[in-house]
Amino acid sequence: MAENRVVRYAVIAVAFLLIGAGVALAAAPLLAGSGGEAERDTLFQVSTIDALLQGIYDGSMTFDELAAHGDLGIGCGDRLDGELIGVDGEWYLIRTDGRASPVAGSATTPFAAATFFDPDLTVTVGEPVNLTGLGRYLDAEIPSENLFYAVRMDGTFPRVVTRSVPIQEKPYPRLVDVTANQTVFTFENVTGTVVGFRTPAMVGGINVPGYHLHFITGDRTAGGHLLDITVPEGSGVQVDVTANFSMALPATEDFWTVDLSGDLSEDLERVEK
Ligand SMILES: [Zn+2]
Repeated sequence: MAENRVVRYAVIAVAFLLIGAGVALAAAPLLAGSGGEAERDTLFQVSTIDALLQGIYDGSMTFDELAAHGDLGIGCGDRLDGELIGVDGEWYLIRTDGRASPVAGSATTPFAAATFFDPDLTVTVGEPVNLTGLGRYLDAEIPSENLFYAVRMDGTFPRVVTRSVPIQEKPYPRLVDVTANQTVFTFENVTGTVVGFRTPAMVGGINVPGYHLHFITGDRTAGGHLLDITVPEGSGVQVDVTANFSMALPATEDFWTVDLSGDLSEDLERVEK
């Protein structure tokens, strides 16, 4: 009798396992690597800009994990070792020698943002503009200042100015003191891709309100954090309107103890230039 019951429980357990496997298989297409609808339309970010401004430079998420949240993005390397750019699912770090190299999936980032790029509109730039003018053009076309946007612009540009920052050692200096010694690169008549985000004012302290863009050459060998650009008339900028926002905050003592209550917008202004 007791033996019978054990057998019956075993059969029931197997049935549940099969049902469980069936459900998992049925759900798999929705949850596969490329992400479901909501996940694709989410700006995902690691840490906060104010933590980075205060020297929280130790990587807290691997690039493999970041890539599970998007195929386009920007950020920086572990210990501030280079500017990160992701385009078409390929992720590169541009270090202070100006060269772009593919990231190792097991290497980490202290600050990055990513999304799956599904452009909703293309903005055509009607006259030659610099980086500020580009922002004005896009601002006039986006549906709201209160959403997130991923942008991508491919083309040949008369002039592109980028920068990168050197790897840091503890005790880490503040980011303003690092960017004071940044390396600046000027490209002329260069073919390449600009990618990045426009984030709303409400995420001040968390991300970079306004436009934060990085650049990589067409042959994916050089680039950096975009300081200025000459955008020729007729250039098309693809824009992905993004209504969801998700953050992964580092589980590190440095992040848990840093004071994030202050207003660091002046630091940010200097760091972005
Ligand atoms: Zn940057």
